Amino acid sequence: MDSVPCLACSTFFVLRNKSQQFCSNSDCQRVRKRLWQKEKLATDPDYREEQRLAQKKWLQNNPGYWKNYRREHPEQAARNRSLQKIRNMKKRIRACPESNKTVVIAKMDARKSRPDRLSGQYWLVPMVAKMDAVKIFIASIPSSYR
Ligand SMILES: [Zn+2]
Repeated sequence: MDSVPCLACSTFFVLRNKSQQFCSNSDCQRVRKRLWQKEKLATDPDYREEQRLAQKKWLQNNPGYWKNYRREHPEQAARNRSLQKIRNMKKRIRACPESNKTVVIAKMDARKSRPDRLSGQYWLVPMVAKMDAVKIFIASIPSSYR
């Protein structure tokens, strides 16, 4: 059989069947499984409901999991809070497109009046394209370098 590049790691591997797209590496299989599940959740309402019930049941058997997770992973918790603010903002904009202008103007004014407050870690989140958020760090340049 021919060897083809893995969609996850680009390493060439020998196909076991014609539909195989990922090599047998466990990380690549995890990627394959994640993509499969994402597609299944988007297209299969029964699967989505089963997953929701299974997660609910698991959480009932593991109370306090998310509280502990947020305490032990403060960076991820901060990222999730930022992403939730963006989701809330998108939802508000969809519900009332005029509110978009108010939000943007308010943020711009806040930034201009306090340029030193811009320093810190941010998540750069694409508003249109579906791609992962990118973590960036913005630091102010000390006045001696200006
Ligand atoms: Zn691979």
